Amino acid sequence: MKLLVSSCLLGEDVRYDGGNSSVAFNPKFSFSSKELFMDILCDNEVYSLCPEVKGGLSTPRDPAEITSLEKPFKVETINKEDVTINFLLGAKKALELCQEEGIKVALLKSKSPSCGNTKIYDGTFSNNLVEGQGLTARLLSENEITVFNETQLKELQQFIKTNS
Ligand code: SF4
Repeated sequence: MKLLVSSCLLGEDVRYDGGNSSVAFNPKFSFSSKELFMDILCDNEVYSLCPEVKGGLSTPRDPAEITSLEKPFKVETINKEDVTINFLLGAKKALELCQEEGIKVALLKSKSPSCGNTKIYDGTFSNNLVEGQGLTARLLSENEITVFNETQLKELQQFIKTNS
C-alpha cells in the first residue's frame, strides 16, 4: 500500500531544530515498536514529505504553534512571525501528492502543528497539549486520507491489512 510518512520520522533532519524524530533510533521506542515500524516501511511504498519544508520554510527555523485552531487558521513562530501561509501551502502540497499518487493513508509525527493528528500544542509555547490536529493532518483527514501517528503503529498495521 502507498503510505505518506513524515520525513522526520524517517530520520531526515527537517525538524525546526535541525534534527529529526527518527523512530528507528529513538530510545523511547521499544524494540518491538521499532521492528514494527521497519516492517511497515519495508512492506509498503513509502512517500516521504515534510509539509513545513514543502511550504517554503528553512531548516532550522523558529518553532511555531497554531494560535487559531478554527478558520481562518493562524500559525505563528515563537517570535510572532506569521507563518500561516507556509503551513497551508505545505498541507496543500501533501494533499496534492496523495491525490496524484492515490495515497489513502499517512503516518505523521504526533503533536506537530503540521503533522499532529490528535493533539497539538496550545499556541502559548508552554508545552501544553490540547485536542486538535495540525494543518496537514487536518486537510488530509478532511479528504478521506486516514492519518496515524508514530504511537499508533499497531492500528496502522491493522488498517493496512484490512485495506490492502
Ligand atoms: S512538519 Fe511534519 S515532517 Fe516536517 S519536521 Fe514537522 S513533524 Fe516532521
